[in-house]
Amino acid sequence: MGFVERYGAAFGRSKALLLRMSGLLAAEQEAQGAWITDTDGRRWLDFGSFGVHLIGHRHPATVAAARDQLAHMGLSGKVLGNAEATRCAEALIDIAPPGLDQVAFANTGAEAVEMAMKMAALSTGRTEFAALRGSYHGKTAGALHLSDTYAVRSPVPLAAPAHFLEPGDLDQARRVLAAGTVAAVFAEPVRGEGGVLPVDPDYLTALRELCRKTGTLLALDEIQTGLGRCGRRWRSADDCPPDLLLVGKALGGGLVPMAAVVYSGTRIGGAAGDPVVLASSFAGGALAGRVGAAVVQLVREDGFLDDVRRLGEAARKGLGELLGADPRIRDIRGEGLMIGLETASPGIAGQILLEAAKRGVLLSFCLSAPQVLRVYPPAVIGQDDLDRGLETIAAAVAAVPNALSAQPN
Ligand code: PLP
Repeated sequence: MGFVERYGAAFGRSKALLLRMSGLLAAEQEAQGAWITDTDGRRWLDFGSFGVHLIGHRHPATVAAARDQLAHMGLSGKVLGNAEATRCAEALIDIAPPGLDQVAFANTGAEAVEMAMKMAALSTGRTEFAALRGSYHGKTAGALHLSDTYAVRSPVPLAAPAHFLEPGDLDQARRVLAAGTVAAVFAEPVRGEGGVLPVDPDYLTALRELCRKTGTLLALDEIQTGLGRCGRRWRSADDCPPDLLLVGKALGGGLVPMAAVVYSGTRIGGAAGDPVVLASSFAGGALAGRVGAAVVQLVREDGFLDDVRRLGEAARKGLGELLGADPRIRDIRGEGLMIGLETASPGIAGQILLEAAKRGVLLSFCLSAPQVLRVYPPAVIGQDDLDRGLETIAAAVAAVPNALSAQPN
């Protein structure tokens, strides 16, 4: 049996079909920097990966930290305190806005969202939540409840309502929060899965004020936007300090699954601070702590954020020059290396994704806005590889029949 057949047998035929349609018949085997190599020796530029690989694959600093840590301890025994998890928590507190002085570790972004929901409910005594229209916070029951287009489809609906706030509409936010029943507002500063849609910083600041006035907590979900992806340490947390700051994706350095809630001990406190309430078998382990601390150190290095901004601008400019006038492309937007390529329809986006994969560039589409492709190169990419990737995307667009652009969204 070939790899794709085995894959289909293990994970379901529809997933195998997708691989076959994309011509991805061999398994990924090696990865370094911006590149993935398969078992047949074919190489791909990785501009996808759900926004995880901001520092590329197997960055030497995180690999060295992980190797060294494996000689000592992997997870945590859960009775003694863990030095590496503590160091990572200190590093996160150090780069978080003032006032966010405690950390709870999780294994995935969705789990961090669940933890933040629990902390907010326990510390306010409220059970309703609000999130932004177009939001996506993950696939666990609570996170789905706060994920706009997914909330209605969630197979495990929660009893308390979720309110979806239209960014920019402060009157609506005022009305929703006035009753004092909402424990926390969850906001993604740039709605990634919603279509790479930035939220106006002034709206977020005004929302924060409204939260303060109504005793509502503000949770900024910087799982996708944080740690430099948008060309700043945090897309919004420095200008609009939240009560709960959610971090994930890049934090694991492309090596380990890890996420965190950095929160204000004074604003949360009480039962929400009870270590048993937030305990996890795996989170807060030594290996993840070591890798996470190495990632924070990298993000703090001189020039890292400059590189993200420079590469991001070059990528948007390059895509604009290559595709700005193409009828299949509606918009090229984003911040730093979080770039959205809006096409004329989900069908066009799907075809471009397949054509790009055939030509050696891996992209992904936005979960809730499938007409938008995500172009997320890593910050460690060289200019030549970036240019090669952009030209390949342009060739993929050109290979898609123009007539498709007449299809409705
Ligand atoms: N929050 C945001 C903003 C995300 O983009 C995602 C994942 O795409 C999540 C939460 C969920 O993270 P994870 O897939 O690690 O559970």
